[in-house]
Amino acid sequence: MMEVSAARETVLRFAEPLPAQITPLSSPALGQVLAVDVASDVDSPPFAKALMDGYAVRAADLAGGPVALKLVGEVAAGAMPTVAVGPGEAVTVYTGAPLPDGADAVVVKERCEATGGTVTATDTALTPGKNILARAAEMRAGDVVIPTGTVLTPTAYGLLAAVGKTAVMAIPRPRLVVVATGNELVEPAMKPRGGQIRNTNGPMLMAQAASAGALPRYLGVCPDDADTMASYVREGLEIADVLVFAGGVSAGKFDLVPEVLKAHGVEIHLHHVRMKPGKPLLFGTKGKTLVFGLPGNPVSAFVGFELFVRPALRALGGHKHPGPRERRYPLSEPLTARHDRPTYHPARIDFAAGVVHPLPWFGSADLRALLGANALIALPAGEVNFEAGAVVKVLFTHG
Ligand code: AMP
Ligand code: MG
Repeated sequence: MMEVSAARETVLRFAEPLPAQITPLSSPALGQVLAVDVASDVDSPPFAKALMDGYAVRAADLAGGPVALKLVGEVAAGAMPTVAVGPGEAVTVYTGAPLPDGADAVVVKERCEATGGTVTATDTALTPGKNILARAAEMRAGDVVIPTGTVLTPTAYGLLAAVGKTAVMAIPRPRLVVVATGNELVEPAMKPRGGQIRNTNGPMLMAQAASAGALPRYLGVCPDDADTMASYVREGLEIADVLVFAGGVSAGKFDLVPEVLKAHGVEIHLHHVRMKPGKPLLFGTKGKTLVFGLPGNPVSAFVGFELFVRPALRALGGHKHPGPRERRYPLSEPLTARHDRPTYHPARIDFAAGVVHPLPWFGSADLRALLGANALIALPAGEVNFEAGAVVKVLFTHG
């Protein structure tokens, strides 16, 4: 049985970034990874510009004390100056206006008194460069301003606009397909009858996939019947970058996923991971499609997704750090446990207090315990007896 770290390495070995696609500025691909270096086609700002409303002056004129300057003109944002500022002169400027020649600073209007054709400036501490942004201070034409590998954020979109990029190459969102398996499952709108339960994994995995930046698609509940399952496998393999089956991967008579996948040419790279919950987890590939079989217990499915599927999606999406993110936190309270495998215990990190709370938990069918969790405490196999304050390894989950 594979250790978690070896299993994740195996998965990531097959998770190459998807080929980049063109994405227009008009529909932001937030969270996607840029696949090219983006250079500026302009100097910015294109002219020395006033950052405040006030008067463009020569700073040296004010050094000797309050001084009356001759007002010789005015420049608004969007206009070009028509006069230069000579010694003893000032030009009225508004935020965003190009600075007239001769001026080297802007004195803010609150530090001035204008009377008729003169302005008395009292800001004797004014230094050259004050309240102006020099030409090309932000960027020069040809500068790479957004390097390849940058995650597209709202600020990245602002910068793309600033440098005139109306479309860029970015790694697309992986297409993830979810199939829930089990004769006992009914969809959430139904009231379960004798022996039935509601399908919680379908919606949960769809939401996890969406939160990982994937494009999720739900194919429905597949009964434990090899022929029907075969059609789900065929359809899934056709449309998915990542195909996820939930349930049916253990060793029972009705656990048909492994054999049906094999029959359709999926090469199984691992089956069973030394972890709790989620031991029967399966991973395989067919061509470029990654295939996961997650155990059906909802907490097992959740943990399997966070430990393996989310990192795979990030890697396919071109992210440098596939995760899961790991930190060490002191426990808020004592934690004792005894497990035969490394265990992932639902927990809540209190970021303000800087501690992690283990949540009360009754095992892999207890999804309710996960509500409010934002992390998993990684416990070693064997007996653990942690006191409050003991520092433990914690993996961030989406919650
Ligand atoms: P399996 O992995 O198919 O053996 O399922 C393990 C347990 O999880 C069984 O109790 C199933 O009824 C339950 N289960 C399987 N799939 C789901 C699902 N989609 N939603 C909720 N429970 C499930
Ligand atoms: Mg089942």
